[in-house]
Amino acid sequence: MRLDGKVAFVTGAGSGIGQRIAQRYAEAGAAVALADLNEAAAQATADALARQGARVLALGVDVTDEAGVDAAIAATANALGGLDILVSNAGIQIVAPVTEFDFADWKRLLAVHLDGAFLSTRAAMRQMIAQGRGGVILYMGSVHSKLASVLKAPYVTAKHGLEGLCRVVAKEGAEHGIRANVICPGFVRTPLVDKQIPEQSRALGISEEDVIRKVMLKDTVDGEFTTLDDVADVALFFASFKSNALTGQSLVASHGWFMQ
Ligand code: NAD
Repeated sequence: MRLDGKVAFVTGAGSGIGQRIAQRYAEAGAAVALADLNEAAAQATADALARQGARVLALGVDVTDEAGVDAAIAATANALGGLDILVSNAGIQIVAPVTEFDFADWKRLLAVHLDGAFLSTRAAMRQMIAQGRGGVILYMGSVHSKLASVLKAPYVTAKHGLEGLCRVVAKEGAEHGIRANVICPGFVRTPLVDKQIPEQSRALGISEEDVIRKVMLKDTVDGEFTTLDDVADVALFFASFKSNALTGQSLVASHGWFMQ
């Protein structure tokens, strides 16, 4: 599964899942643009990859900023020689019961996940269509693209929404050789999840250990977290897959938490 000669743009690449995907793509031979709101984190990751010989570009980007996303995709194409792979991954989490959910928090979460995915997709598709060499668009969904959990109304709504966007992009992209798929991980130990453990502990009135054992991993087949490498491997598989047989799909990597 090689990506030699390909150019990838990964959002949220300064931390967690996006960072590991950027690393995996660089190892597979791709040139990688690492986009993140946290520019310093993207730069530090890019510097480490550059020291290993990768062609990389770090970009400070807010995926909810229309002009910023357009400029970042253009800068990537100019600096790295086009664009072949978009990984729309940047995300946040805010947990509260529906009855206590702040409207501003609801809108902020939907904006990062859905506006961010739309703006990244639109800019990437325009670039890919102009180039005429096809492309791959991946969305970071979640088990929460398939099922619901308490306290996560906007997150579950957004992750379900990404499946709809993916299917439209798969249909509209087909004539241009652009494929779109969703990756749906179970819980992965990243800063996003580590932050939730004490929050859920307080909200549910249970210990942090019970949040992990009885909430997060309760329905897995083996009580284990999905790993960063698991998700990066799936992202590499989708990016290197050669035909339209896989488009408009979602793949759940969750230790059996959700089975379809
Ligand atoms: P993380 O917090 O480690 O990383 C998220 C990155 O996104 C951060 O570097 C952050 O700066 C960046 N980001 C946030 N808002 C942004 C914005 N507006 N513009 C640009 N960048 C922004 O989180 P993670 O766990 O690696 O999550 C990455 C994605 O994976 C998210 O979409 C998340 O919903 C999804 N996901 C995570 C898990 C999990 O268990 N960790 C499971 C399923 C899906």
